[in-house]
Amino acid sequence: MKPMGPIPAGFAGSNGELLIGGCTASDLAREGTPVFAYDRAMLAARVASLREAMPGRLAMHYAMKANPHPALLRYMAELVDGFDIASGGELALALEAGMDADRISFAGPGKDDGEIEAAIRTGVTLNTESAAEIRRALAIGESLGTVPRLAIRVNPSFDIKGSGMKMGGGAKPFGIDAALVPDLAREIVASGAVWRGFHIYAGSQALDAEAVIATQAATLALAAELAEAAGVDVPHCNLGGGFGIPYFPSDTPLDLTAVGAALGDALASMPDRLADTQFAIELGRYLVGEAGVYLTRVLDVKESHGEIFVVTDGGLHHQLAASGNFGTVVRRNYPVAVANRFGEPAINQEQTVVGRLCTPLDILANKVTLPEIRVGDLVAVFCAGAYGASASPAAFLGHGPARELLV
Ligand SMILES: *Cc1c(COP(=O)(O)O)cnc(C)c1O
Repeated sequence: MKPMGPIPAGFAGSNGELLIGGCTASDLAREGTPVFAYDRAMLAARVASLREAMPGRLAMHYAMKANPHPALLRYMAELVDGFDIASGGELALALEAGMDADRISFAGPGKDDGEIEAAIRTGVTLNTESAAEIRRALAIGESLGTVPRLAIRVNPSFDIKGSGMKMGGGAKPFGIDAALVPDLAREIVASGAVWRGFHIYAGSQALDAEAVIATQAATLALAAELAEAAGVDVPHCNLGGGFGIPYFPSDTPLDLTAVGAALGDALASMPDRLADTQFAIELGRYLVGEAGVYLTRVLDVKESHGEIFVVTDGGLHHQLAASGNFGTVVRRNYPVAVANRFGEPAINQEQTVVGRLCTPLDILANKVTLPEIRVGDLVAVFCAGAYGASASPAAFLGHGPARELLV
């Protein structure tokens, strides 16, 4: 038997049916499986709890690469203060979702001229990632006759301790090394571009409040040091994010209250150069990950050498991360449940839930303890609201994409 991660708080059953956004799993599955269902009430509650815990001065941005589903984006656009994007495609989606251009910032190490032009034309802030990119943006702005809005993405010399994916600290393709930043900040100000400040992102999927607090303190200190060295004010400063969610056994939720209190104290004692700065954090999975459930239908149940395999109509082509093939070293089980037998007691025999792809990588839950699963049942994979549908190889093996619903 292998343990599963914790089912996110807020999910309940009714008459043996898992409820998502007030709908039963069977109702959501009726028009076809696999389907991702995103619970809008959980999205709203998550943003509300963040606002409650974080200092009032802090803006909340959604990093939309976590989930760019159009209906979810439209909903998020009303809940958060800005979107952080990383491609021209995301730029178009963000604007279609109704987010104002002046509340969108565009990071990413490989922006092409078309993307830079689209950002400048629409008034989106470019978080520039190299000296060459700054000069390209200035030249494109000049040729368009439009003043670009430019920030600098700083490659900090630290990362969040214990975070899942390292995106800062040492040699990186992301951002501009801190030592080069003061000169470039002065160059942007002197060019007549709209100087927007700094973007400092040090990592992702952190569950340890002390590590997040230490990173935020280091980020603020770095912003102050760079502003002082450049002799510029900082209109806006994106402090990154990195708040994680519990996916696996023994993961525990981030202590948001502790993080908010420490950040409140830190923001209360900023040096003059940052006294009027608008600070923001950018969160992806923390905002949307736990609100999403991936529902699959059981096609077959078979036994092999004494082990039970439950074959579903889903798989890693939709939920790569749950299969353990998206940035994890050791495969561990996401939280999974039988959605139409929710709350039924588990049987005394382990079952392995697999997808329908013809590859041994396609495991959704390995040797887990669940109620007896039969053909036609619905298996729910939780924590599917981030890096699911859009971060999985949907074309692999030709089964096509999953449906997505905001409920
Ligand atoms: C991916 C990314 C995020 C979102 O990360 P999460 O772990 O989903 O919160 C935020 N900012 C930047 C710059 C990113 O690349």
